[in-house]
Amino acid sequence: MSDCIFCKIVKGEIPAAKVFENEHVLAFMDISQVTKGHTLVIPKVHKENLFELTPEMASNIFEVVPKIANALKTEFNPIGLNAVNNNGEKAGQSVFHFHLHLIPRYGSGDGFG
Ligand code: 5GP
Ligand code: ZN
Repeated sequence: MSDCIFCKIVKGEIPAAKVFENEHVLAFMDISQVTKGHTLVIPKVHKENLFELTPEMASNIFEVVPKIANALKTEFNPIGLNAVNNNGEKAGQSVFHFHLHLIPRYGSGDGFG
């Protein structure tokens, strides 16, 4: 989608701090970190949300999520991590290209939840 901000990140048209990349999946730092290390994991192909994701795309994403989560754990030393996904405006989705939030947690007062 030409006006999708995450498609522009995939194409390199706008910058992002990349955490992981392979043929199907890109992970990058959220521009507005709710906690230190807040990362978004997206399919490179534009799909609006979970309702549009094929099993193959879901598989491609979750194949690499443990690796990314462990990289965040090593880098930031959190005591936990939330994996969060919003689907639809009423569910809090604001960018309409599927993304999984990986939110490292540091204990009470870390700014999330
Ligand atoms: P949602 O509210 O759709 O679940 O999450 C969208 C996320 O995308 C938000 O956490 C927001 O900070 C992030 N975001 C929006 N625009 C950009 C951008 O241009 N670059 C990056 N890295 N993150 C963005
Ligand atoms: Zn897109």
